[in-house]
Amino acid sequence: MNVLVINSGSSSCKYRLLDMATETLLCSGLAERIGDPSSGCLVHETFKDGKERKVRREHPFPTHVAAMEEIIALLTDPEVGVIADRGEIGAIGHRVVHGGVEVTEPVLVDEKVKDIIRRRSVLSPLHNPANLKGIEVAEELFPGTPNVAVFDTEFGTGMPEEAYMYALPYDCYEELGVRRYGSHGTSHKYVAWATAKYLGKPLAELDSITMHLGNGSSMTCVRNGKCLDSSMGLGTVEGLVMGTRCGSIDPSIIPFLMEKKGLSTAEVSELMYKRSGMLGICGHTDMRDIHALIAAGDRKASLALKLYVRSIRKMLGAYFFLLGGRPDAIVFTAGIGTNDAITRAAVCEGLEPLGLVLDPAANDTRTSGPRTISTKDSRVPILVIPTNEELQIAMAAVQILGKAS
Ligand code: ADP
Repeated sequence: MNVLVINSGSSSCKYRLLDMATETLLCSGLAERIGDPSSGCLVHETFKDGKERKVRREHPFPTHVAAMEEIIALLTDPEVGVIADRGEIGAIGHRVVHGGVEVTEPVLVDEKVKDIIRRRSVLSPLHNPANLKGIEVAEELFPGTPNVAVFDTEFGTGMPEEAYMYALPYDCYEELGVRRYGSHGTSHKYVAWATAKYLGKPLAELDSITMHLGNGSSMTCVRNGKCLDSSMGLGTVEGLVMGTRCGSIDPSIIPFLMEKKGLSTAEVSELMYKRSGMLGICGHTDMRDIHALIAAGDRKASLALKLYVRSIRKMLGAYFFLLGGRPDAIVFTAGIGTNDAITRAAVCEGLEPLGLVLDPAANDTRTSGPRTISTKDSRVPILVIPTNEELQIAMAAVQILGKAS
């Protein structure tokens, strides 16, 4: 069965088509600036017979429907397409950011599920409405094809009460659902599964710590294959310092800033989500730019990296303790975790007494698949496991529909 995986944003649509009989990627693409009347861009990449091919379309896409129509045209194009017609797509998997506690596993989309996505937009105003839009577009353009929703909060719903509760008046939880949900759950779930596979252990026996270090960064502590704790909270700003998000800060800073700078709730949110993190400290978000600036002697870039690494190490220490100092592995993933040897080395520096011994040569060697970057005598393996959220979503769709070919 072919599964089309869609990650719909407010002005973008990321997609991948996977053949789940062989778990191979047939093509991927990204439509950007949807809704912009003056310009739009769609980059479509195919991986057919071991050959990569890239096609670019540059013109405005007034709506998500228009962008999806162009995507379908490329998927079925006699030259650059990978399928003959849209009927060859057996299911569509959608990434949805927030499902609250009502959704504890991937679900077939129906009116009830759409209603949950709509209601949970309160906690994910940037993402949920866009994710719902992607579902509605798929329903319109692929009538009769099942849609499966995979929620980023799903993995976190398995956390114990003492991990997900905040010590606020209990009615904040009862009336408003204020609790830790854990974001990036689809990635953390996939990486836990892939780690167990790599270590040759049943997932149900895996204890690990996952560091998802990308533009958005988060960590998960996994016990017996389930989420024991997550650095992400009610929204997607708590925990680690990120590209543009501040991570954990003293909550008293928020009313202080609102009062002193005369900020509204929307403005203070924007400050924490979009103007903080490494961007706020040094004006850059991409780790490659930050390293280049550090090499040129930029003090603020150096500070931004130090803040980032320190936030990871503090969380790593907490999770190491929660697992009694005996995780089966600590795992780096996502853009920075997979590619950046400097950050990984800084995170692991001086942790040898705890049984974490990085192998500098393995850390500096770049390969595409899962790998070990610790020495043979490291008590706790240090791994790099590339995440694959789209495969996780497609696997969920196959599982729900109960067929793989
Ligand atoms: P997102 O959170 O948007 O999914 P990714 O997981 O793709 O992000 O991570 C993107 C980030 O990964 C970039 O902003 C950059 O900081 C980092 N990155 C990507 N490639 C490299 C590289 N070769 N070296 C260092 N950092 C990298």
